[in-house]
Amino acid sequence: MKESLTRLEDALKVVLDTVPVLGLEKVGLLDALGRVLAEDIIAERDNPPWDNSAMDGFAVRYEDIKQAHAITTPTVLKVIEDVPAGKFPAKTVGQGEAIRIMTGAPIPKGADTVLKVEDTENTPQSVKVFKDVYQRPRVAILSTGDELADLDERFNEEKIVNSNSYGIAAQVKEAGGLPILLGIAKDNPDDLKAKVRQSLNADFLVLSGGVSMGDYDFTKPVFQELGGEMNFWKLAIRPGQPVAFGKIGKTLAFGLPGNPVSSMVTFEQLVRPAILKMCGSQVLARPVVQALFQEKFSKRPDRRHFLRGVLWMENGMLMVRTTGSQGSGILTSMVKANGLIDVPVEVEKLKPGDVVNVQVLGGGF
Ligand code: AMP
Ligand code: MG
Repeated sequence: MKESLTRLEDALKVVLDTVPVLGLEKVGLLDALGRVLAEDIIAERDNPPWDNSAMDGFAVRYEDIKQAHAITTPTVLKVIEDVPAGKFPAKTVGQGEAIRIMTGAPIPKGADTVLKVEDTENTPQSVKVFKDVYQRPRVAILSTGDELADLDERFNEEKIVNSNSYGIAAQVKEAGGLPILLGIAKDNPDDLKAKVRQSLNADFLVLSGGVSMGDYDFTKPVFQELGGEMNFWKLAIRPGQPVAFGKIGKTLAFGLPGNPVSSMVTFEQLVRPAILKMCGSQVLARPVVQALFQEKFSKRPDRRHFLRGVLWMENGMLMVRTTGSQGSGILTSMVKANGLIDVPVEVEKLKPGDVVNVQVLGGGF
């Protein structure tokens, strides 16, 4: 007689329904590895029980160093005590004073800031501060276009969803800036002027759309009326091309092309370094790696192209391919990318195996 087959899931259920759970027991700490805790055990105190330093450096008062800037006006503070990890500070940091502090040591009274040792020049008695603790730039983001609708508006088939504001906001955050969303300006001088005015307290304005040939006719006079000195460029890059940059009062203004991929790529190349510079960062560019191109590609030798690419490692070598269709309205070409393949102006053809430079995006690959 043929026996019927039992499904594995059914067999497992029978086994588990049959197995009992053993009772509880007390074990020593060293025997506890791999055992199951029967009840919560709550720590009796915070560990460490005091604020401690995450780095080797100097505990100071922010008030004393906020003016310190680069080589021109370093602040000099008097070092009043040395505190290694495991020792408690005996003194309180007063005006013009600092306490040398090692990683893990408690923050002394009076101090609210720890300076990295690398940002100072120091002797046993004094410390010269070259950097202050940098603030984050405020970046106003404004989309332009009568065809745009925001995410919270009712869905309307005739409208284009304002994706740029959110894409740019993410890029601003990633660069260390604080995004301020100003919404959508209509394609008329009055609305644009009113919205641009709202940005004038910010460190940067990043506007998208409205800088290509037709739009430029009203964007330019609006900037001028607000006292802006702007450069309008047709950049030799793709995607990208129309870009405006200048100052309106104290605000540094960028006008990026409206196509979503163009705005993100031009942001990467121009706005990100600007934000990083304002943050006080020394490194403004993405890491660039060399990789073996895995496709065929051709272009005219008139513009530098940034192809959206996928980098991966194979047999110890970096490989790169494009993310597929590269149209400047195809946002997925950017979303899927972990690198921008930088094809120089003069290059006309790439074939599989050619070495290309790739700007590495985000957290790597
Ligand atoms: P423009 O640079 O204003 O000529 O816009 C170029 C293209 O990008 C047009 O197809 C616009 O509809 C589109 N576009 C402009 N701004 C946005 C935005 N904020 N979000 C999504 N698409 C946009
Ligand atoms: Mg437009």
